[in-house]
Amino acid sequence: MAEDMLIIKDLKKYFPTEKKDLYVRAVDSINLTIKKGEVVGLVGESGSGKSTTAYMVMGSYAPTSGKIIFNGQDISIPAKKRPLTIKKNIQIVFQDPGTSLNPQRTVGQILGLPLRVHHIVPNKDMNDRIIKLLDMVGLSEDYMYKYPRTLGGGERQLVAIARALATDPSLLVLDEPTSALDVSVQAKIINTLMNLQKQLGMSYLFITHDMSLMRNIADRIAIMYLGKIVEIAAATDFFQRPLHPYTQMLLSSIPVVLKAEQELKPKRIRSQGEIPSPVNIPSGCRFHTRCPQAGEYCMKEEPSMVEVFNQHFVSCHLYKK
Ligand code: SF4
Repeated sequence: MAEDMLIIKDLKKYFPTEKKDLYVRAVDSINLTIKKGEVVGLVGESGSGKSTTAYMVMGSYAPTSGKIIFNGQDISIPAKKRPLTIKKNIQIVFQDPGTSLNPQRTVGQILGLPLRVHHIVPNKDMNDRIIKLLDMVGLSEDYMYKYPRTLGGGERQLVAIARALATDPSLLVLDEPTSALDVSVQAKIINTLMNLQKQLGMSYLFITHDMSLMRNIADRIAIMYLGKIVEIAAATDFFQRPLHPYTQMLLSSIPVVLKAEQELKPKRIRSQGEIPSPVNIPSGCRFHTRCPQAGEYCMKEEPSMVEVFNQHFVSCHLYKK
C-alpha cells in the first residue's frame, strides 16, 4: 500500500467575530490522509469548511490548532514560513481562472514566474520548458504570447493548471476547478487533470460540492458538514453503501444515467432547511436540525467516527460500535 503523503490531524480553524468569545468554527477538528498518487474528494455544501481546509493545506491560513504533516514534515505554519521545497511540492488550482491569472502578463510570463522563483530551469531553457508545460495541458506554443483576457474560461483554467505543474508538485489542491466554467468545457478540464494525475503520479485533494463528479475520479471520498468530516470511504464502497444520512441526502439528489446506478441510489431524501451558521453550531450531532432520522439522543451527544466496514468510517449514532 502506498505511504501517506499528507496527514491532517485534529485540524481546527476558528475565525474571531466582532463579539468576544464567539468564533466562526469553519473547520472543527478534522482528520484526513492522502496517500502518494491518491485522489481524495472533499465534498460538501458551501459553508462546510472544505475550502478553509484547502487554504490551511496551502498555508494561506494558519490552523487554530492541530497538525498538517507533509512527507513527514510538520507544515502547520503559514506559507511565508514554509521552506521553498514545500511550496514547490504543493500547488493549487483555484475555482476562477479569471481572477487567479495576472491580466498584465502574457501566458509565457505567467508560466515563467514559478520557474524562475523556484530555479526549475536555467534561463536558456526557459522557453522550452514553457512550451512543454503548455503541451502537457493541450495548448500550442502560440499561447505563450497571449494575454489571459483574450482566452476563453477553459483555456484560462488550462493555463492555471500548467502554472501549477511548473514546479513539478507531488500534491495538487483543486478548489472547485470547474465550477466557474461553462458546462461545455468542464469535461475537457477534468479529463486533462485526470490524465496528468496518471502520467505524473500526483496526489490530488479535490474540493467540490459536486458529488457526481467524484464517482469516476476519486479513489476516496470524505464528506464534510459544518466543519466536520462525517463519512470517509473508498469511492466504490461509498456509492454502493452510503451510510451517513447527510451523504444519502446528497446522493439522492444527483442525476444518474445507468439503471444499475439508479438501483444503488438512496431513495429521495428531502433536504430539510439550510446549513446552520458555523458561529452557532447545533448541539450534539451538528446535522440533527436537518436529519430525517434524528432522535432525541442526537441533540445531546456528538457522535464519534467509527469504522463500520473496512476503511469505511462514519460519524452517526445509527452506527454505534
Ligand atoms: Fe442523524 Fe442522529 Fe446520525 Fe446525526 S447522529 S446523522 S442526527 S441519526
